Formats: sequence, structure tokens, C-alpha cells
Amino acid sequence: MRTVYVNGDYLPETEAKVSVFDRGFLFADGVYEVTSVLDGKLIDFDGHAARLDRSLTELSMSSPVDRDELLEIHRELVRRNGIEEGLVYLQITRGNPGDRDFAFPDAEETAPTVVLFTQSKPGLAESPQAETGLKVISIADIRWGRRDIKTVQLLYPSMGKMMAKAAGADDAWMVEDGKVTEGTSNNAYIVKNGKIVTRHLGNEILHGITRAAVLRFAREAQMEVDERGFTLEEAKTADEAFVTSASAFVMPVVQIDDETLGDGTPGPVARRLREIYLEESRKAAI
Ligand code: PMP
Repeated sequence: MRTVYVNGDYLPETEAKVSVFDRGFLFADGVYEVTSVLDGKLIDFDGHAARLDRSLTELSMSSPVDRDELLEIHRELVRRNGIEEGLVYLQITRGNPGDRDFAFPDAEETAPTVVLFTQSKPGLAESPQAETGLKVISIADIRWGRRDIKTVQLLYPSMGKMMAKAAGADDAWMVEDGKVTEGTSNNAYIVKNGKIVTRHLGNEILHGITRAAVLRFAREAQMEVDERGFTLEEAKTADEAFVTSASAFVMPVVQIDDETLGDGTPGPVARRLREIYLEESRKAAI
């Protein structure tokens, strides 16, 4: 049985409890982070900790745990659950004010709820999907306007995955005002004539921690990067495409709607970036 963390305690998962009045449950009033684990170590931990702080600040929530405490909790859970490859999920909500009310509770009186748990995923880095590539469909992006905050309001992304599944695809890319924003749970990229194109940062997309690392490695490897919005048509005629996220790393995309990209197999840029990302991240893991 897994050991999970709830508000200072390490508990068997069956004994962990959160109130029915918790604002995460009632209002999706909470933020989260997912940090991957390779070789029993945390990948990009400081990036995730920094983004968590930013998400909390944007929602006027105070941080109940500092970076060092957070690292300690992550490591303790990885240790107690014997995770070699997998994920650590963290969620912080505005807590339990004891009743349901739209107004935020006084932060002095209502402490945030902090929950962490692990997911063991042996073979995470050797995913067979990295060899075959993903098929994605396009769907309208009807999410709220602050996608840069990593909130737990994941209903539409969840519906997007189901739309993809119903269409026989793996995931969905969301489109707004004619441009691709991102995947349901990843950042989206295309490659044309060797140049990597991915949407610029703003409120329209999550500022992916993997995105930042991958773009840095790409530039270090003298690859050309263009951070701008791209259309679905551009994507469908690209040489290759891929997505990035903490759990998928760099994952090639080989089909968008009914268009096959290139020869229908993962392209060289996506393959190379995946290799570099995994190698460098393992080296820097803590
Ligand atoms: N965009 C969205 C909408 C996501 O949910 C995620 C993953 N949580 C990402 C991008 C990728 O972010 P990261 O690389 O930090 O996992």
C-alpha cells in the first residue's frame, strides 16, 4: 500500500482524509505540480517548486511549505514507496473553511491543504510510444483565460482526452483564434526546415517546466527555435511535431487529425531532443 502525505503526516493511502468542505473539492480552488522520478531522483525539482510558488501567488494563496521542506517531503515519499521511475503528484488547495462559500476564507483562519502522493511507473523513460509517436486530434480551446496558473480545474483537458480516445487518437491539441495553444496536458511543437516552433509564453498556455529545459537544450545544440503561435494548417504540413511534459518528457507526434507527418514515424529532431533531455535531466536530478 502506498504512503501518502497529507498536511504534515505520512499515512497509508486508505487512512488519508480531506474534508468535504475543502475548496479544492468544491471549487477546484487549488494548484498542483507533477515531478517525475528517474533513478529514484527528482527531475527539474526546482522548476516545479518555482512554478508552484508562482501559481499560489497568482491566486493569493500563501505557500505553506518552503522549497527545502517540499524537497524533503518529495524525497521521503519516493523513499517510503520505493519509487525508481514514476511521478510525485502535489496538490495545494485553499483548504477547508468549514462550510461552502464562494468568497475566499481568511487565510489567517483557514490553512491550505497539502497533499502529495507517488505513482510508480516502471519503464517511464522507455515508453514504447516514443518509438511509434502519438496521434492527435484538434479541438477548440474553451478553457479559462489563466492557463499559466496550474490549477486543478482539469475537466476540459479530461474531456479532450476522451474526445481523442473516441476518435482513435492519443491526445488532443487545442486551437484558439486559429492558433494551436497546447496539448491537453503538454506543450505542443512543430518542426519545419529544421526550425522548432512552439507557442510563446503568455496566459494562454502553461509555462511548461519541460518546455523551458528542452528549449534551452535545443539552443545549446545550435537548433533554431521560434517561439510564436502556429496554425493547425502549418502543423499539418510540418516535417515533424512533438509534445513535452514532465511525465512524457519529449514525445513525438506523427499524425494530426487526418494528416500524417513526414513518413509517419518519429522525426529526427524529436528523437534527438528526447535523448538529450533524458540524458541531461538524469545528470541534474536531485
Ligand atoms: N500544458 C498543460 C496544459 C499541462 O497540463 C502540462 C503538464 N502538466 C504541460 C503543458 C507541461 O508542463 P510540464 O512540462 O511542466 O509538465
